Amino acid sequence: NSYKRIDAHLSSLGYCTRGDAKKFLKINELLVNENRVFNPSTKAYHDDITINGEKLDPETLTILLNKPSGVICSHNDAGVLIYSLLPYRWTQRNPKISTVGRLDVDTTGAIILTDDGTLNHKLANPKKEISKIYEAHLKVPLKGDEEKIFASGELLLNGEDKPLLPAKLEVLSPTCVRLEIVEGKYHQVKRMFAAVDNRVVKLHRISFDNFTVEDLKEGEYKSIEII
Ligand code: URA
Repeated sequence: NSYKRIDAHLSSLGYCTRGDAKKFLKINELLVNENRVFNPSTKAYHDDITINGEKLDPETLTILLNKPSGVICSHNDAGVLIYSLLPYRWTQRNPKISTVGRLDVDTTGAIILTDDGTLNHKLANPKKEISKIYEAHLKVPLKGDEEKIFASGELLLNGEDKPLLPAKLEVLSPTCVRLEIVEGKYHQVKRMFAAVDNRVVKLHRISFDNFTVEDLKEGEYKSIEII
């Protein structure tokens, strides 16, 4: 619950720029403990402020989103960016909200976004070995040795100098599997199946850590708390 100037609150939360704060306070009813404020330099606690009867957006945002296919986990690529699925104001925040790691443009499912840089770092740290569960549809039927190969801790992907940590494969049908991995190497799941002479034709991340997107439609998101 930070104590700072009203214009600093408004600009860091994306309501307006510092320069536009005076105009913003004319058009919108901003109250600090019931008292209307017009002066952008007035200091206040975040939790004491309302705008047009609503509490301010939280100071840190952490959300779980069910990524649709076709949207890009990047701030500056050409195409439909994942951030365009969020309320515009959230995309204007400072610090910026960013994805924890990335999913490929054609991959769907669970992705966490946060503007808490420390948390992002923590969740992206490979040493944490956070579980990620994928459902993959495959081009050709499994041969039968894939489960053992993935579990071995000895699978060396093209271009890597260390083998992958053991991964858990659950066969749902000859061309559909669940795969649990605890790393997040570039295109990891697709490269794992390429290594066993197969090809992922559809990829969905069911869960990241304990967060599943079963209750979210594609493109939907919800606030989560991570301690
Ligand atoms: N593995 C992949 O190959 N792609 C993803 O998007 C995620 C994991």
